[in-house]
Amino acid sequence: MASEPPHHRITYNEEIAEFKPDLIIAIVYPIFAIGLSLYESLPGIKAEQIGSQIVRTQWLHDAGQILRGKRVLIVDEVDDTRTTLQYAVSELQKDVEDAFKLLPEHEREGSKTQFAVFAVHNKLKPKHGTLPDDVPYYAGEEVGDIWLDYPWEATDIEEHDRLALEQKVEGA
Ligand code: 5GP
Repeated sequence: MASEPPHHRITYNEEIAEFKPDLIIAIVYPIFAIGLSLYESLPGIKAEQIGSQIVRTQWLHDAGQILRGKRVLIVDEVDDTRTTLQYAVSELQKDVEDAFKLLPEHEREGSKTQFAVFAVHNKLKPKHGTLPDDVPYYAGEEVGDIWLDYPWEATDIEEHDRLALEQKVEGA
């Protein structure tokens, strides 16, 4: 069995904390959510399927209709093996193409969808998944093959922040 990668804790306190905002104004684009699960074990999923199979836990109702003619940025917090992002792009593209085919000829003009991908963290490692060449890819930060512990997954945020601080001191 593959050995556990070292953990790296991301906290809410870095960077923005220095500015100490009183409130945050978000410039919001319409946001839609899909849920895909690769690592988590779900009821009905056998152990050998975990890691090789993507399960939709949430999908867009009428994706083709919603995304038609739009510039769509697909965002994920971390690109590890790229399996999930490949799945998301190819499945959404299928939905869009199916909707496109149903359009009468004269409505097709300007109805093409352009996808792009943004990963907050991209792990520099061999990828299992690939993205089409015409889908631009952006990464917020490139990291090694470590396991990132995000603050929204922490069950004890004080302990999470304490360990993150410890790891900062160790790394200094
Ligand atoms: P991929 O399909 O690229 O292998 O993995 C993508 C998904 O796996 C992410 O959306 C995330 O749910 C999970 N994942 C992969 N690496 C990490 C990590 O380092 N930390 C956390 N918290 N989740 C991860």
